[in-house]
Amino acid sequence: MLLAPSEIEEPVDSTDEIDAPSEPSESRETAPLGQRPFPAAAAHTGTSIEQTSLRTLIEHTHSISRETPVGQAYRVFQTAHLEYLPVLDGTTPVGLCSRAQIGFLLGSQYGFALYAKQPIERHLLPSFLTVREGEPIRQMLELTLGRAGEEFHLDVVLTDKAGAFLGAIGLQKLVHLQSLLVREQMEDVTRQRQEVTATNRELFRSVMELRQSQARYRILFEHSTVGIALLDIAGLIETLNQTMAAWLACCDAMGPCDQGLVEAFEEKARPRLQAALRCLETKPEETTEAWMLPRGNHPRRLLQINLHVIEETGQVCACCVDVTQERALTRAEIQKQKQSFLDSLMGGIAHELNNKIHPILGFADLLMEEEGDAALRRHYAETIFKSSTECAQIVRQLLQFCQPTREEKAQCDLGTLAQEALSFLQFRIRNAKATAHPNWTGLAPKAPLSAPVLANAAQLKQVFINLIMNALDAMEPAPVRELRLTLEADEKECRLRIADTGTGISPEVMDRIFDPFFTTKPQDKGTGLGLSICQGIMKAHQGHLHVETVLGEGTTFTLTLPRHEAEPGEEPKSCSAGFGSSPCCPDRPAEGRRLRALVIDDEAFVGNFVQEVLKRKFACLVERAAD
Ligand code: ADP
Repeated sequence: MLLAPSEIEEPVDSTDEIDAPSEPSESRETAPLGQRPFPAAAAHTGTSIEQTSLRTLIEHTHSISRETPVGQAYRVFQTAHLEYLPVLDGTTPVGLCSRAQIGFLLGSQYGFALYAKQPIERHLLPSFLTVREGEPIRQMLELTLGRAGEEFHLDVVLTDKAGAFLGAIGLQKLVHLQSLLVREQMEDVTRQRQEVTATNRELFRSVMELRQSQARYRILFEHSTVGIALLDIAGLIETLNQTMAAWLACCDAMGPCDQGLVEAFEEKARPRLQAALRCLETKPEETTEAWMLPRGNHPRRLLQINLHVIEETGQVCACCVDVTQERALTRAEIQKQKQSFLDSLMGGIAHELNNKIHPILGFADLLMEEEGDAALRRHYAETIFKSSTECAQIVRQLLQFCQPTREEKAQCDLGTLAQEALSFLQFRIRNAKATAHPNWTGLAPKAPLSAPVLANAAQLKQVFINLIMNALDAMEPAPVRELRLTLEADEKECRLRIADTGTGISPEVMDRIFDPFFTTKPQDKGTGLGLSICQGIMKAHQGHLHVETVLGEGTTFTLTLPRHEAEPGEEPKSCSAGFGSSPCCPDRPAEGRRLRALVIDDEAFVGNFVQEVLKRKFACLVERAAD
């Protein structure tokens, strides 16, 4: 049966016929397809297309049931200005119908009335796409638009997870979305390209900087006058520069070298160097000094070695400076200073020796004349012996003082060294009408304080002598002349204070007292080298010299040195090798055994005497030689 045209025109009660799912109000808008704005996410507001939800793409939610007559479907098209309509079975989409198709059916000359009454299901378009909520948007675009050689789907129908209709998404919107996606990807690619270019540029600059730095490093390393060696953790030399190679006996510059640094030094210096290397485990930097073995005809060198751990590589960098000449100069200065001391001491020494020789001569006379009284003869002889011993001690101290000082350090007691220096200057102190008050005791009354230091005994005594002589000079005009020597020691440091009651030092002089050749004394009395030498010696001992003064009242010099306990196994060497030590005697041989002695002396008198003593006192078999 055909439908009358009037019937076709009848308004359709869409609420009865159209299955409109309940969607958010914004999804129900019915602007013409492709004219509604895209969701914010897709319009490049910072969110990517990937993050756009399918729901936001829904353009219209109109749909019709599969039983809807064609006429009614047409009315829906007219009121909602749609191109396509999803057709539902209940809530499930079963197909699409298009405005053009419906119009065609209604406009057919013969069968429109018939068609208008037919359910829409009979006129569905074959192609449509159903997409479930939550589907990745990229995949949906590929499905809809990406098919080569086939027609595009006209609409995409969005369903919920159970397949119920949610709304339709227009093709135009999808196309636009696709183009946005492409643009987004292009922008991504451009950004990545820019990033790669920037990284490349950065890399190039770094490589250039690295090359420049390597070139600088190579030149500095190769041509440095400092000897540089890189050691592995075991102390083996990995690489070394030309200077170091010239000093070492067996390695080529920059080439591999399987020698240990320690072995390149004199045997005596090795324990100290080994200890310095061990110290690096706790301290990243350490400085020490050691004599290097000569190479071929090269002279011995005293090297100051600075060891430094390179954290980044785990290697040890040994930087060595040749201080042989510097030390020789210092030694020369010290000798000069000694000479000046000797000049100033000479009068006193002569006087002192005279004082000792007079009783010797006198009592020798008496001894020769006295024939009967054996007790008296013995007393004369004892007095002669005592005075001669004192003479011998003065001469020995002088000789040892004149000797050039050696470089070796050994464990010493600061108090003992100071006492020896004080004894050496005893007559000078007496001549200056001064009194010395040494205090070597610790906190416990009368207990001698132990102040062990690692030192070159002769050099340290030189420092004490210099400071005491300066104090005596400064006390010359003072009414009270007191010299106080105080020893202090804690776990870390040992200190000796030398305080005088002299003139004190004015601020202008104070600024310059450590300058070499600065002196306020007359030319024949002062060289101006004393304090600068003292400071140099203290530095070489990792110590320091501090001065406090009150003008008109006196001056105190404080020497501070690191405390040094002898390590287990380290032989404590005698530090009294310098002046002030007592002469040594051979032990008497065990009963029944006789020692043989060879006495060599070109002075017949001395030779005879020694031969006599060895025979009588030590029952030796003595042989003589003149040289
Ligand atoms: P010198 O004793 O040959 O002058 P030094 O370097 O030992 O050389 O001393 C430099 C100067 O420091 C001295 O000339 C003196 O002015 C000053 N000085 C050093 N010690 C004292 C002191 N204990 N009291 C006052 N002045 C001192």
